[in-house]
Amino acid sequence: MSAVIMDGKALGLKIREGVKEKASALKEKGITPCLAVILVGEDPASLSYVKSKEKALHEAGMESRDIRLPEKTSEDQLLSIIADLNNDEKVHGILVQSPVPKHISEEKVNQAVSPKKDVDCFHPESVGNMVLGRQGFFPCTPHGVLMLLREYDIPVAGAHVVVIGRSNIVGKPMANLLIRREYNATVTLCHTGTKDLKAFTLQADIVIAAAGSPGMIKPDMIKDGAVVIDVGINRVSDTSAPKGYRLCGDADPAVMRKCSFFTPVPGGVGPMTIAMLLNNVIEASNKFEKKI
Ligand code: NAD
Repeated sequence: MSAVIMDGKALGLKIREGVKEKASALKEKGITPCLAVILVGEDPASLSYVKSKEKALHEAGMESRDIRLPEKTSEDQLLSIIADLNNDEKVHGILVQSPVPKHISEEKVNQAVSPKKDVDCFHPESVGNMVLGRQGFFPCTPHGVLMLLREYDIPVAGAHVVVIGRSNIVGKPMANLLIRREYNATVTLCHTGTKDLKAFTLQADIVIAAAGSPGMIKPDMIKDGAVVIDVGINRVSDTSAPKGYRLCGDADPAVMRKCSFFTPVPGGVGPMTIAMLLNNVIEASNKFEKKI
């Protein structure tokens, strides 16, 4: 069997084109969708994530309020900046790039962002809405996975999905979204405490790997014809690569000979995350327009 490669780059671009049109319609009504992007410190990986988000916003005709703060910024200073942005009518979404420096509580930061502007879906109220099946923002990476499954007409309702990873950013929201009635999947959530991971993955119609462990999903762990969604983005050293490393996922690409659909790394789930972030900024701007 040879797998269909799911092109997240192409779908991400298509979604971004739609976002651009929605941004332009909002602008005609006098609203320029704007995301405040806060980076505390100078971590090079975080800086590059933040820059690519800001570039994507500009390409979609939206505004980014770029806020760069020194590493020594106190928790109180950061919380006060977030409070100002919550009250700023020109800002529709707020994103604080994680990780924040150790002296700042990520939990307090997540709770400080107004749920109306919580485009990352990290506030407990946003998470609660998602778990309770209510309306609200969907977290960007898991939402991107759902969009990819939809684009490739992969049946999710009734499917057995094995999610590997229980982080608050990927694994837990992924599992929670999949069990909402509109997706109706049967979900098994595996993590580092799972005994015999392979016994579970072999039963899966869809495996979603978000463990951050390069190449851990091997062909003998996958049922013939299953779908493998690889969320992992791992740097592995490669002296032949210009930067001395290359990116790879959690799935060994050899699984392609067993599965029906497969997301590459890079070019699979990664580009979907930014597309869904832009989509959430539009959603936040729409809510602002309708005053809800
Ligand atoms: P994390 O380290 O917070 O969580 C990883 C989870 O995987 C943990 O809950 C752990 O229990 C589980 N795990 C790790 N090794 C395991 C194993 N051998 N067996 C079973 N479970 C195991 O990471 P995260 O933030 O959820 O990110 C996961 C991966 O996804 C990383 O590679 C990250 O870079 C990537 N990521 C990609 C995107 C994207 O846009 N594509 C977004 C976020 C994260």
